[in-house]
Amino acid sequence: MVVIGGGSMFKKLYKHIFFDLDHTLWDFEASANHTLLDMFHRFALGEKGVPDGEHFIDAYHIHNDRLWSLYREGNLVKEVLRSLRFADTMRDFGFEDDELAENLSAYYLYHSPRNVYLFPDAIEILTYLKPKYNLHLITNGFEEVQHIKLVSSGLKPFFKEIVTSEEAGVKKPDPEIFTYALRKADASVTESLMIGDSLEVDIIGAKNVGMDQVFFNPEGIDHNEDVTLEITDLSELRNYI
Ligand SMILES: [Mg+2]
Repeated sequence: MVVIGGGSMFKKLYKHIFFDLDHTLWDFEASANHTLLDMFHRFALGEKGVPDGEHFIDAYHIHNDRLWSLYREGNLVKEVLRSLRFADTMRDFGFEDDELAENLSAYYLYHSPRNVYLFPDAIEILTYLKPKYNLHLITNGFEEVQHIKLVSSGLKPFFKEIVTSEEAGVKKPDPEIFTYALRKADASVTESLMIGDSLEVDIIGAKNVGMDQVFFNPEGIDHNEDVTLEITDLSELRNYI
């Protein structure tokens, strides 16, 4: 863990804290896997050649991650991403069914943002931070999906400004989404802090516009990136801000 500027300086600097949503506050993996397992049973995917829920979940994530990278780089539109991730998953198990792919996509989009899983201490740390800072969100997720997550999880009231990539017209790590969010929040770079789980998207993105960053690294992955602060548990934020 690295703190630049020392503990007390760190505390005084910031007025605005920008959070990432997926994999930072919202436990995307747990929520998605709950929904996917439910889908495996509900749509009787076992009868179609998927060995078990675990295989379905693993295959889905491989395709979803790959397609999300294309989407993030602007090489795929969201409608295609949404049905293709299921069509490609089914193809892995030897069957094609466009109607089923659409039905799976619709079911997932409806239920996943309503299956609430937050990281431990997410609500507690936001409750602690809210009276002291202006809290905002910068998320690459889809506008309507992220909105449902925020309402169903009770996270929404904590945030003043919620910036989605759809609204900003660009995705993290594009510097424009950070400057857009700063403008919307009426915040300066020097009084702002970005907290997120992705080095590539949140941390390097924030750093490129001159923002300090907190790398939320619950898995403790190795890296060589110079970050302002690194934590493995959200509750550690109390020690610094
Ligand atoms: Mg994230």
